[in-house]
Amino acid sequence: MAEKAPAAPRRRARTVRWIVLAAVLVFVTALGIAHQRLGVGKPVGVDALCPFGGLETLGTLVTGGFLVRRIALSSVLLLGATVGTAVVFRRAFCGRICPLGFLQELAGTVGRKVIGRRLTLPRALDRPARLLKYVVLAAILWLTWSAAELVIRPYDPWVAYNHLTSADLFAEFGVGVAVLAIALAGSVVYDRFFCKYACPMGAFLGLISRFSLFKVRRDAETCIDCKLCDRACPVGVAVSTAQTVTDPECIDCGECVTACPVEGALATGARTAGTTRRLGPVAVALGSVALFAALVLAATASGSFAWTMPTLAEETGSGTDGASFDTALIKGSTTMAEVSDAAGIPPEVFTRVYGVPASEQTGQLKVLKDTYGCSPGEVRAFVEAYRTDPAVVDSWVPGTAHAEEEH
Ligand code: SF4
Ligand code: SF4
Repeated sequence: MAEKAPAAPRRRARTVRWIVLAAVLVFVTALGIAHQRLGVGKPVGVDALCPFGGLETLGTLVTGGFLVRRIALSSVLLLGATVGTAVVFRRAFCGRICPLGFLQELAGTVGRKVIGRRLTLPRALDRPARLLKYVVLAAILWLTWSAAELVIRPYDPWVAYNHLTSADLFAEFGVGVAVLAIALAGSVVYDRFFCKYACPMGAFLGLISRFSLFKVRRDAETCIDCKLCDRACPVGVAVSTAQTVTDPECIDCGECVTACPVEGALATGARTAGTTRRLGPVAVALGSVALFAALVLAATASGSFAWTMPTLAEETGSGTDGASFDTALIKGSTTMAEVSDAAGIPPEVFTRVYGVPASEQTGQLKVLKDTYGCSPGEVRAFVEAYRTDPAVVDSWVPGTAHAEEEH
């Protein structure tokens, strides 16, 4: 007679997973908004805080020794933490950490309430469609490497999500917003719609996961073939017929283990030296996330992981005379105070030329430009003229020395 599995640890494991996913989503959303809104000392942008950025730049890093623009060493370190976690806990990043995955689960929760059930694509369509994410992965890696640019950035749903508060959202990320909307709308009906069919990071981690230490393992002796595990799986893995789940689609969410009613029939375990070491569902939920967090903390402690943007002066190494300052670094997100500091131009000069009070010079140029006409291109032109002859302050007419504009 099968022994009933205790419900409390299974419920706790699910609660831990949802709390972690929600906390990560809130944290990275706050960082994304702060990056858009704050001036000096703001958090780095989404590109420098995404492990997929590290993967995108791997080609240029290995063959040319450089990171593509917007990617930081932090992205590569995050990739290392993600791969390190995958070596032990398969795609735990997808199932237990990824905020885009959690957004899809939230959409799925809405769908469950509204539609009352989850749909699946017909098998003949589902299987080939799942190969699409490998094509997406290969195409992005190839295009990024050959162009040495983040070519996919305008179409990336996660980049779009992180610019939802940006005034330039639709101009810059219109396609990304559409992809995000399709991912979430699809997830209302089909579990983890984007993960299953289009996510390049999931495709990459799926390739690694086959070799991971801990996998979901079924004990055929105690299994009662109730198939509750199959029904609980958001990505359609046939758990009830597997001895060990090696399917690259498995996102290590643990929902199948949580659903299994029989003590010992299904658990996450590692097989070493002929014996299987099993972990409880709560231990897996905490252990996988703790491993990822420990790797990120170690990278932060090493001093190589930047959480905040360097100032213009730090980027160019320029001092108060601004001799080595490169005006090409002035962007929409640059603050006027940064330009003043890096170029060695007193704040009063900007007050006189553009009318920006000193108290407002900590604002980003993309915010100040509508009121004061100090767009990035305009300020670039002025700084160059000023360095040639500071007396230009007396004759400078804003808006006449440049034609181009950018963010
Ligand atoms: S097999 Fe289990 S752990 Fe893997 S995705 Fe399905 S429910 Fe989650
Ligand atoms: S949930 Fe799956 S593993 Fe557990 S008893 Fe039912 S069929 Fe077997």
